[in-house]
Amino acid sequence: MKKIVTVVLAALLAATLLACTGCGNTQSVENIQKNGELIVYTNAEFAPFEYISGGKPVGVDIDICQKIADELGVTLTVENVDFDIIVSSVQSGKAALGAAGMTVTDERKESVDFSISYTTSTQYVITSEEFEVNNIEDLKGMQIGVQLGTTGDFTVSDEINGYEDDEGNPVTGVLQDSGAEVITYPNANLAAEALKAGKISAVVIDQLPAEIIVQNNSGLHSTELLYPDGSTTTEEYAICVAKGNDSLMEVVNKVLQELLDDGTIEEYIIHHSTEAVVE
Ligand code: GLN
Repeated sequence: MKKIVTVVLAALLAATLLACTGCGNTQSVENIQKNGELIVYTNAEFAPFEYISGGKPVGVDIDICQKIADELGVTLTVENVDFDIIVSSVQSGKAALGAAGMTVTDERKESVDFSISYTTSTQYVITSEEFEVNNIEDLKGMQIGVQLGTTGDFTVSDEINGYEDDEGNPVTGVLQDSGAEVITYPNANLAAEALKAGKISAVVIDQLPAEIIVQNNSGLHSTELLYPDGSTTTEEYAICVAKGNDSLMEVVNKVLQELLDDGTIEEYIIHHSTEAVVE
């Protein structure tokens, strides 16, 4: 009995320690300025928002974060990581910001806080040119590529596995029992390569990255993902910050609001949508 109590206590202690990683808000404005560095996590495989050029990450999110670093008077450090570890890294305080064309979702909101939204998107389907997709039903029985842990992954997985509506009632997915399968890739470019190699039949991903992938890869085309009733998805992009890190959030929102008001974000999007296309 004594042994069980000890084990239970040890487990409780471990759980408390784990839960508290990042509790100290190590990425407060004060600490960032003390260290002289703003650490941002991104996944630089998602042009125009982030991609590699001249050997380093560039893009809309990087330009925005440079303005935030300027406002704080510190150096910007961008780390290129897999998309699906960004939220947990911001939560634990490894990164101050997650800026990765990231959609605000209720589930992510349980782990991090989101800034004001700086642009919107919708899901697109990329296929080979010969294959016409009118709506999601045309993907029945297909192998569908997505980036792990993204809204494209959630959208396709819900339609294959079924999901619950807002009241918790089960809903049958459009692709359920059709033989359709979701194939996850660590990033968008690997999914596009698999599509070109004929390993999968479609890739579901956000609009602008889909359009740039098509421009950079001959033989592919893209179209907006439509539900059978003609509706589409809508998503808001925002920057994520550790929960309760209000001092940093204030700076992020101030910079974003200024860049939105004077049209700079729109300019960044146009500029990088051209730059990211390989001639
Ligand atoms: N907007 C999508 C999401 O947040 C994809 C982001 C990305 O792949 N960088 O899930």
